[in-house]
Amino acid sequence: MSPDAAPVRVRIAPSPTGDPHVGTAYIALLNYLFARQRGGRFILRIEDTDRTRFVGTSEQMIYDSLRWLGLAWDEGPDVGGAYGPYRQSERTELYRQAVDQLLHAGQAYRCFCTPERLEAMRQQQAAAHQPPRYDRTCLQLTPAEVQARLAGQHPYVVRLMVPQPGETVFRDELRGEIRFDHANVDDQVLLKSDGYPTYHLANVVDDHAMEISDVIRAEEWISSTPKHVLLYGAFGWTAPRFWHMPLLRNPDKSKISKRKNPVSLVYYRQAGFLPQAMINFLGLLGGGMPADLEKFTLDEMTEKFQFERISLGGPVFDLEKLRWLNGVYLRALPPEELLNELRTTVFGQPYLRQIVPLVQERIETLAQAADLADFLFRDEVAPPPEVYLPKKRTREETLKAGAELLAALEAAEWSHAELEAELRRLADKLGWTAKEVFMLFRAILTGKTASPPLLESALVFGKARTLDRLRRFLEREKARR
Ligand code: GLU
Repeated sequence: MSPDAAPVRVRIAPSPTGDPHVGTAYIALLNYLFARQRGGRFILRIEDTDRTRFVGTSEQMIYDSLRWLGLAWDEGPDVGGAYGPYRQSERTELYRQAVDQLLHAGQAYRCFCTPERLEAMRQQQAAAHQPPRYDRTCLQLTPAEVQARLAGQHPYVVRLMVPQPGETVFRDELRGEIRFDHANVDDQVLLKSDGYPTYHLANVVDDHAMEISDVIRAEEWISSTPKHVLLYGAFGWTAPRFWHMPLLRNPDKSKISKRKNPVSLVYYRQAGFLPQAMINFLGLLGGGMPADLEKFTLDEMTEKFQFERISLGGPVFDLEKLRWLNGVYLRALPPEELLNELRTTVFGQPYLRQIVPLVQERIETLAQAADLADFLFRDEVAPPPEVYLPKKRTREETLKAGAELLAALEAAEWSHAELEAELRRLADKLGWTAKEVFMLFRAILTGKTASPPLLESALVFGKARTLDRLRRFLEREKARR
């Protein structure tokens, strides 16, 4: 069957490496609309082969966030389907077979180079102003030498043999023809020394096996696409159509980043954005909807969204606009429903239940509970310098420490032990006392010099919102300069 006639099957393929990203929701929305408009299937595949970046809680957060937005998938690890398993770590046998096929056909080769040798090579290339690429040393190995190394259990990777010289041409449905000179395409690693496939290999093998008709993903993957197209060719498979969506940008046009905007969907949910407002906002990005429409539902998008209309200009993720739109949605709610929203989010039972032990030892009247825990219900707290500045530190030093604190907490696993260890490590690094670092964190999180237990409070408030509070503190204080 030619790809034109094949049924539409699209997928999102997030990697469970942390909090689910707004960019994932944006791409999920586009895939969802594409499938719904064409009577196709929308598939969720978990790309969990990068074991170094794997985060155990991430997969469930991806499900929860996408369901919250109403973007239901037809096939996936949790709902099943005829093309499973949908988790790449459960498909490793398939990748090994695929690699064997390529090795056998001479389209790929084993590379035994050590990380040290590769690093030295990279440095030489950088010094000579050459693009970084593998120098094909291991391609010179005779079959006997390869066998000897295999017998000696030498670790190896498998690389794709990219035809040199050469060129790969493919069509992007939004951009037209794209050409890549192989002078700029490295002999890509397909299988890592830990036996896991790389993104490139697993992605292509699975898109083929799952009969994906259209790959709709973010622009940042364009430079991977020639490698994928080469792989499809090497296997003798027909490549899917490719649609690379413009990257979301910060208002200053840089690529959307957690330095400038909260990017975790968990944050938006916990901070009280309504899913219908979020979906509406994401639908406004990129220009797929008629220009005169500003407020619409997911169903209206399914009806009116046009992929041909998407502009490549780089849609701006404007948080102010999202907040405004969310306000429009909140004001339109009947009060009973608004009450219900409050009761399931910022005043939700499970949340309140976690707060009770933080205040119980410290109150004489019930109303004091609110005085103590106010910071856990507020969108913003704004401690003045007399609250957040340690006595012996300057404002500059303190803001720098705040930025370091943000970076340290971003990397931290959200547990008591890990938070404590991070704060102590940071104190050492800064040459501050641990007490000073705890005080600074307390001031930024709670707005006060005294509060319920600090780390317990941060655990209850959650990572996404704590990071947002720190980021807003830094922005606010830098702007005051
Ligand atoms: N695993 C990749 C990601 O994290 C998938 C990219 C693609 O859609 O090919 O986004």
